[in-house]
Amino acid sequence: MLVSTRELLEAAAAGGYAIGGFNVYNLEWVQAVMAAAEATRSPVLIQILPGAFKLAGLPLVALGLEAARQATVPVNFHLDHHTAKADITAALELGVTSIMADGSHLGYQENVAFTRELVTLAHGYGANVEAELGLLSGSEDGYTVEAWQASLTDPDQAVEFVERTGVNSLAVCVGNVHGPYPGEPQLDFERLAHIHARVAVPLIMHGASGLPEAMIKRSIELGICKFNVNTEVRNAYVRGLHDHVTAGDQLPKDMIALMNAAIEAMQAVVMAKMMLFGCAGKA
Ligand SMILES: [Zn+2]
Repeated sequence: MLVSTRELLEAAAAGGYAIGGFNVYNLEWVQAVMAAAEATRSPVLIQILPGAFKLAGLPLVALGLEAARQATVPVNFHLDHHTAKADITAALELGVTSIMADGSHLGYQENVAFTRELVTLAHGYGANVEAELGLLSGSEDGYTVEAWQASLTDPDQAVEFVERTGVNSLAVCVGNVHGPYPGEPQLDFERLAHIHARVAVPLIMHGASGLPEAMIKRSIELGICKFNVNTEVRNAYVRGLHDHVTAGDQLPKDMIALMNAAIEAMQAVVMAKMMLFGCAGKA
């Protein structure tokens, strides 16, 4: 069933677990995430990056919304890391009620102004807005930020940012990175604790691929209600297709079997994340 992101995040905060926000790129990705959610009875957020929106447009949005409506578990469809007002408006018009307005690449004052404008727009449609403060290093969706540019979320600034923008949830930068971790992940839990103590809105952590169980659990204790996952599912998709294609002497003729190989590989990864985040069985 299609539910609001506010409901999903508040239930997670109250229940001491986190939901997954899984990026999807096509029908098979949507099927893999939904099959995992149904199999583990997990509430879930399916989401698309601007690159996927650029490639597939509103048909992919409509697919995600319809999959959410048909599910027997609570689901919402979310725009992840969006910056283009025209794309966001088109999605809101189609019925999307959850967006991330990403002004994290801007300076602080510009980020406040950008986010506040998008919050006003989205709230006019009754939609929930996630924003990011600080800058995540790493690469996602063809967007690369050098590590030297990365900066962590300042707790004092986070309080002011949430008040001035009216944002509904906040993505934090506490050492989490997009894409594979260059070495052992190092999260600044003291910083996260300070943010959690002072910021009333649900907290989000991007870059959950590769975080060990102990860090996931500690992050949930310190207020993280949603983890974004992309890299590990992406790898599963490519590996599923690759293994199926290279298993025989000839190129496969059965497209359904090929697509199912990708779906099964992705579903296994998504299910493991749902168990890890504690949302399995909460639907
Ligand atoms: Zn992200």
